[in-house]
Amino acid sequence: MPDAVHDAFRRPLASLRLSVTDRCNLRCRYCMPEDEYVWLPRASILTFEELERVVRVFAGLGVRKVRLTGGEPLLRQDLPALVRLIAPIPEIEDLALTTNGLLLAKQAPALRAAGLRRVTVSLDTLRPERMLAFAKSARHADVLAGIRAARDAGFEHLKLNSVVIRGFNDDELADLIEFGRAEGAELRFIEYMDVGGATHWSMDQVVSQRDMLAALAQRYGPITPVPGDGRAPAERFRLPDGTTFGIIASVTAPFCRTCDRSRVTADGTWFLCLYAASGVDLRERLRGGASDEELAALIRATWQGRADRGAEERLGVADRRGAPRRRGSRRALPDRFAARRSPSGDAHAGGLTSPPDPLSTGVGDLTP
Ligand code: SAM
Repeated sequence: MPDAVHDAFRRPLASLRLSVTDRCNLRCRYCMPEDEYVWLPRASILTFEELERVVRVFAGLGVRKVRLTGGEPLLRQDLPALVRLIAPIPEIEDLALTTNGLLLAKQAPALRAAGLRRVTVSLDTLRPERMLAFAKSARHADVLAGIRAARDAGFEHLKLNSVVIRGFNDDELADLIEFGRAEGAELRFIEYMDVGGATHWSMDQVVSQRDMLAALAQRYGPITPVPGDGRAPAERFRLPDGTTFGIIASVTAPFCRTCDRSRVTADGTWFLCLYAASGVDLRERLRGGASDEELAALIRATWQGRADRGAEERLGVADRRGAPRRRGSRRALPDRFAARRSPSGDAHAGGLTSPPDPLSTGVGDLTP
């Protein structure tokens, strides 16, 4: 890749997560558990044309993979129209979507027809009553319908994400694998990550990759690793019967060394690391008349200076219980990677932006 841009640790700029909305229709305990959030004003959200331009500029610098995420991306009106803009960009080899599936049954055919190739659906439990308690939603059947609709629409390599939490769903690993097998989807078990705030993360709720493998080996027998390209955050494994699954061990084995991904929030702030406390305001440039060349020069120079290893550094943090919930505010901020702004809801102005309380909000798309 002659035009690839590398950072201070020789990591290429290759993969981009695009958050298309800060809103979500679930209230998962590990992500956005509050009843109310301060949503971004519509005018501060990047338009589809702005998002397309962002992708084109990043593609010119080496990005080959784009994942649409949120918030819940299917809450963004007419998402297939965005897919139609991004899918034809010649450098983009892999365009994917991560969704909670609630609205997928209706939208899967249109998304597929628009050129979306891959879908990952988040499914933490097979038990509707657990979803009700954990994510405050009685719509478990809609998620299952969404998974089936995605399969029927012909998406390749359908994946299911399950965040594994001790005492919540750690007794469902094999059931989820069996469900995935029956539905033609591969499971990705994710270690529960510390995003602080109202999620009240603690290390004792984390089920490590090692514990997951031990539990599955007890049920299925010897598990063998599937060799990968060393770049994907999920390590893949094979059961004796040939069924494959992945584990994303972001907590116990962070993959900073090979991290080639960065993320743009719904309001156009570019974060180079999931744990970064500040990002680059692209929206200001996009709306302020910057040329593609100027945007590319800014992105190139910023990536070349990148030296973060957020998850690894976090491993060294002594007290990992996360920051306390914001006080004096009835409403919390949503998904930290869908939106970045001050508590009053004002958009950040200019240059590097800093959230007022980086750990008091939810988490963005953490996943492959
Ligand atoms: N709303 C979409 C969904 O549910 O898939 C996309 C956004 S969601 C933040 C992306 C992924 O991040 C989901 O698979 C979710 O399970 C995962 N996630 C959220 N919070 C997490 C946490 N604290 N630890 C690990 N994974 C998390």
